Amino acid sequence: MTATRVAVLLPYPFDHTFDYTLPAGDIPAPGTIVSIPLGKRMVHGVVWDTRPDATVPDHRLKPVAAIIDIPPLPATLRQFIDWVANYTMAPRGEVLALALKSNLLDRPPDRFGWVAAPAPTTARRQAVLNAIATLDRPDTATLAAAAGVSPSLIRAMADAGLLIPARRDAAAARLDPDAAPPTLSPEQARAAEILRAGITAKAFSVTLLEGVTGSGKTEVYCEAIAEALRQHRQALVLLPEIALSAQFTARLAARFGAMPTLWHSNLTPAIRRANWHDVANGTAQLVLGARSALFLPFTDLGAIIVDEEHEAAYKQEDGVIYHARDMAVVRARLSQAGCILASATPSLESSINAEAGRYRHIILAARHGGATMPRIETLDLRATPPARGKFLAPPLIEALTTTLAGGGQSMLFLNRRGYAPLTLCRACGHRLNCPNCTAWLVEHRSHTSLLCHHCGHTERAPTICPSCQAEHSFVPIGPGVERIAEEVAERFPDARRIVMASDVITSPEQTAAAIRAIVAHEIDIIIGTQMIAKAWHFPDLVLVGVVDADLGLAGGDLRAGERSAQLLHQVAGRAGRASLPGRVLLQSYTPDHPVMRALCSGDLAGFRAAEAAIREPGHWPPFGRLAAIIVSAMDAGLADQAAAALARTAPQRDIIVLGPAPAPFAMLRGRHRRRLLVRGPRRVALQPILRDWLARTELPRAARVDIDIDPISFL
Ligand code: ADP
Ligand code: ZN
Repeated sequence: MTATRVAVLLPYPFDHTFDYTLPAGDIPAPGTIVSIPLGKRMVHGVVWDTRPDATVPDHRLKPVAAIIDIPPLPATLRQFIDWVANYTMAPRGEVLALALKSNLLDRPPDRFGWVAAPAPTTARRQAVLNAIATLDRPDTATLAAAAGVSPSLIRAMADAGLLIPARRDAAAARLDPDAAPPTLSPEQARAAEILRAGITAKAFSVTLLEGVTGSGKTEVYCEAIAEALRQHRQALVLLPEIALSAQFTARLAARFGAMPTLWHSNLTPAIRRANWHDVANGTAQLVLGARSALFLPFTDLGAIIVDEEHEAAYKQEDGVIYHARDMAVVRARLSQAGCILASATPSLESSINAEAGRYRHIILAARHGGATMPRIETLDLRATPPARGKFLAPPLIEALTTTLAGGGQSMLFLNRRGYAPLTLCRACGHRLNCPNCTAWLVEHRSHTSLLCHHCGHTERAPTICPSCQAEHSFVPIGPGVERIAEEVAERFPDARRIVMASDVITSPEQTAAAIRAIVAHEIDIIIGTQMIAKAWHFPDLVLVGVVDADLGLAGGDLRAGERSAQLLHQVAGRAGRASLPGRVLLQSYTPDHPVMRALCSGDLAGFRAAEAAIREPGHWPPFGRLAAIIVSAMDAGLADQAAAALARTAPQRDIIVLGPAPAPFAMLRGRHRRRLLVRGPRRVALQPILRDWLARTELPRAARVDIDIDPISFL
């Protein structure tokens, strides 16, 4: 009896498929998930569209052990996996691993959510019952967020018999496109109409939705989601991981009358599994997720929204190195879906695409409800420096005093965790460095330790200098948020303050509690890192002080100016979102820098045009193509040798190879790193050139080569 062969792609770093046999006649469709032997183990794999390679004789092949009884991975997802692998030059199996994890495949357990038990109750409890009436069997986090109470109250109410857990079979929790639509302003309505038309067309399109913070971009793109729901197609909203919040989830739940399906790294394994199956069998109508949600097995994806599309956090820097914004556009094209890129400060990439007519462009110019944009001013630190050893200049202290006196809320922004970014020996000048990285150790007083922000190396602060043996000679240099909090505590001992940074506020529950406290005005001064720049809505916030507006401009990064302008604009946008006018003070030693001038005048489009004029002549992105080749080894000599070998064999046509040079972090996690940059004009695809080059270059086996197509981090 002859056997049938199938080509199976495994979720491991192989580019090629493996042949397996099946009893004759029994040919599973491409996408079918199978269980197969690999060495001594049983693993899962996917029947791929590739033809079996047939070089191995039948009798040496192993048979497929079992066909897994869940829907096959859809063709659009398989095409997407092939496309991403080809573009990023990652092995196909490694990309498949982003879409298929064995622990997702078991049947999901039944799920439970809360329903109200009939009984009399108190005001806070009533708020929970009111919220429950608008939501369909919400889970604890959603219900707590919607009612503005803590999760412990939900549990207490359950203990008291006021809430009962009920099974949530997915079919019951239907989202309703018309559950709670807002009344749109004329400007918003025009934008929504264009987006809706894009979805109705059931064809691929990309729209850049640009609008100042608070202009209603979210409300407007929800209309596109509603349209996809009406067509019974699925929708996906991508957010940078850090911006995924209970506040945002509750907002979508309120708009559509039921919870969206969540996808991010903080979900429990059981919920991940349940949500994956909901997407695979089509019951999940709206997914709210981080970048990895692009690899979910959507059955029929009609709309993809990339919110905060300019965010660098969309770039995955480990494993398969991809940019989720760019891959979202590809996913939309393969699915005949509408793609919406939303931002108050679009990336130069998207702006140029819009200008060239490749993307549609919609602009929302006004803040909703007549709220005005905050007044942004620079505070020249050369003219009015802070006191010695302090970091807040007198005019900022004055503004904080006035705001406190007027009962308003203030925020101080500094994108630096910890107490001080550098610790130095007063006696000999020795700096405390990370043993594994080219980086200083950052003092964290909250953890009484020194920490490397790149590899996580931690040590106790030494009392004796390892270089000159002086005792108690270390002094902190420069501020982190903890040090600013200390200065605030000294200046304003009665002000209620909170530090928001990822090492202080570590869980979604803590984040939700902090946001609730701020919204309820239980806090006077918020001190935080980029964690506070995100799309929170703080109605009483009137003053924003940027402690070091020059910070993001340091370093040789191609996008330093662009990124700094985006981040500071976003921080500034937190101020004056309700009826109170906002004020923003940027502390700077370079108040004439184009970034500061653009922020103060609000002319970000002019700033982008100036950036474009700088990048275009040299074919720098987005006007040309760029790739980074990072060669690394545990041994510095080997890294040099491998980088030199690549330089010797570098192709001469069409592209320019820069380097090798030590990567800006010449040592990272103990590996020595050298970088070559490859630049070419837009019309030239770099991947075939790189493939050919690497294939004909002999490299030491202990050297590793990582390729980063469209690099955005130059670390
Ligand atoms: P963006 O996403 O552009 O920052 P949002 O969609 O978050 O703006 O809107 C800012 C605030 O204004 C939110 O609280 C939102 O609910 C409110 N808002 C915007 N448009 C409307 C509208 N048409 N009706 C009611 N509220 C609105
Ligand atoms: Zn380190």
